[in-house]
Amino acid sequence: MYSIDRAYVDGRFVRPHGQERMELVSPTTGDAIGEVVLGDETDAVQAVLAATAAAPAFAATGRAERLDLLERLHASVMARSAELRDATIEEYGGPLARSTWVSRVAAQTFLDAAATLRDYEFERIAGRSRLVMEPVGVSTLITPWNSAAGSICGKLAMALAAGCTTIIKPSELSALQSDIVARAIHDAGLPPGVVNMVHGRGSVLGGVLCTHPGVARISFTGSTATGKAIAAMANESVKRVSLGLGGKSPTLLLDDADLDTAIPGAIVAAFQNSGQACIAGTRLLVPQALLAEVLARVRSAVGQMAVGDPADPRTQIGPMVSAGHFERVQRYIRRGVEEGATLLVGGPGRPDGLARGFFVRPTVFADVRNDMEIAREEIFGPVLCILAYRSEDEAVQIANDTPYGLHGYVFSSDPARADAIARRLQVGRVAINGMQHDPLAPFGGFKQSGVGREYGVQGLESFLETKIIMEPPNERSAS
Ligand code: NAD
Repeated sequence: MYSIDRAYVDGRFVRPHGQERMELVSPTTGDAIGEVVLGDETDAVQAVLAATAAAPAFAATGRAERLDLLERLHASVMARSAELRDATIEEYGGPLARSTWVSRVAAQTFLDAAATLRDYEFERIAGRSRLVMEPVGVSTLITPWNSAAGSICGKLAMALAAGCTTIIKPSELSALQSDIVARAIHDAGLPPGVVNMVHGRGSVLGGVLCTHPGVARISFTGSTATGKAIAAMANESVKRVSLGLGGKSPTLLLDDADLDTAIPGAIVAAFQNSGQACIAGTRLLVPQALLAEVLARVRSAVGQMAVGDPADPRTQIGPMVSAGHFERVQRYIRRGVEEGATLLVGGPGRPDGLARGFFVRPTVFADVRNDMEIAREEIFGPVLCILAYRSEDEAVQIANDTPYGLHGYVFSSDPARADAIARRLQVGRVAINGMQHDPLAPFGGFKQSGVGREYGVQGLESFLETKIIMEPPNERSAS
């Protein structure tokens, strides 16, 4: 049994002041696998004070020192990537291939931030003045459970590249993965107080971490509802806030798409990470003329998906992260039936042969209208909605008719046509004919999918303030 009874504050692992013990549950079996002691407001304040004390010296570090630190963090997280992979499988139910990939991506974020930092110009000329980019200050990093280590490391890497000290508040559902990251951070030998981590509930720690006068910046990734609450708290003292929020991303299958690649691509887009992905392409828009063929192909492919033990290399869909989330996804599947959508594959209940754990049947609804709840709300599970369209204009209109705007997918055999459609989508990122990982490009959402960008130069600048130092007036400019 695991016991996570420590916070990481001021360079040391300390017993939290908080006393609440929360059970850690395996999503694969539903059995308890350990517990985490959750921090309270006192722990949050201690972490903010440690980060505040460390901030001036860390802000004064130069590029070379920060590059060295990022490289040490990469090596240190990489050294624990197998441990991280196993925790991602055990605590989160991430399928083996995905868990292996995400644990390496977590380490890689430090090298990606280093690559951005290496070429970044902190001082430039603007008009007749000097523009100086300075660290924004102590930064609270709040992360979700669905990409725990990647999200923690991605935020941390950019904050450190910019010269900001940090407090990490991981999801209470990711204690094992987060604790491994904390130990890797400790092994990297950073100055005390530069990175702090407190486990705990958002409702308990959030008040301190989002309002404390010592905190200058909040980088949040999670649901849109929580993002709004955090923005409201941070607003009081005008903290710098970036929000990476939910999505209901469209996949536009154009009538010239090669279905042999487009259908598997659209299915990966929808069911990646067992459907627990912010960027999941959960609304598949299909030209009316191709509908019958697409439905037949999707039914066959999704019907054969392997659901089960995430440690088994053949598994494509693992369990939902928690009993509560399992129930939520079940509610949406039942809702889709009530709303009159047609169940093409899957449906309510558990997959055959999986009596334990939080497994959901991979489900596809046809005859979906875009005003149905299942088409408007983020389900965050293996549930795909198929909607038919009659013209390209209608496809774009349906795609953009959503409060979200995180991601889009376009499948077409004509690159110019795909590009033209991509430009019309109100989303932060579009993948054409399949997904690729591009960690040096900024990532974030339009509309209620977020504010600001992570990664790349814009990600680095989100942890910087712009200062202008004006030249003294000379006789010519004064006259
Ligand atoms: P969540 O909003 O429930 O929780 C996210 C984090 O916020 C957790 O650490 C939680 O403890 C904390 N939190 C909750 N209430 C808080 C409060 N009042 N103050 C401060 N912190 C608080 O989200 P989740 O269920 O962990 O994650 C899933 C959601 O995250 C989905 O909506 C998904 O789309 C989104 N997500 C977005 C991105 C992106 O980059 N856009 C990436 C991954 C996940």
